[in-house]
Amino acid sequence: MPTGSEPEPAPLSQPPPGAPTVGPPGAAPPARPALLVSACLLGVRCNHRGEASPSPAVAALAGRYRLVAVCPETLGGLPTPRPAAELQADGAVRTADGAVVTQAYRRGAEAAVALARAVGATEAVLKARSPSCGPHAVYDGTFSRTVVAGRGVTAAALADAGLALRDEEDVAGP
Ligand code: SF4
Repeated sequence: MPTGSEPEPAPLSQPPPGAPTVGPPGAAPPARPALLVSACLLGVRCNHRGEASPSPAVAALAGRYRLVAVCPETLGGLPTPRPAAELQADGAVRTADGAVVTQAYRRGAEAAVALARAVGATEAVLKARSPSCGPHAVYDGTFSRTVVAGRGVTAAALADAGLALRDEEDVAGP
């Protein structure tokens, strides 16, 4: 029979008196923050030539982050390999022979933003100068290897979604 003198149990939202304030030995460590990364920088052979651009400096970020690989161009439905394309001054993305691939780039950008939200990423490391991923600069659309300030289609969408962007050169440093 209850005596009526027992202490009230602590609410479930509060630890009971004397409970440890850290997890027990063997408990899962705190989750590392998610970091969206261009898949080609992590060794995936997904660029237009079917090759990767592996960056040891970016791969080393796995010690501090939960790396989430993304290739917007393949997510947008483009095959690998595929014709090279560049972002044009009018905002379209075209291949050297004039084929318009803007919609695939936009689909890939939407998928990358959805992935960033799903995993809770607030930062991304993206491939420099890519018409999808380049966060600071892109080729100018003339297929002459001329670089201009600007963002690739996915980089712009991720920036609009509030992510902080770096490229592999920022990570590697001078
Ligand atoms: S779309 Fe981005 S991740 Fe995919 S190959 Fe190009 S630069 Fe790499």
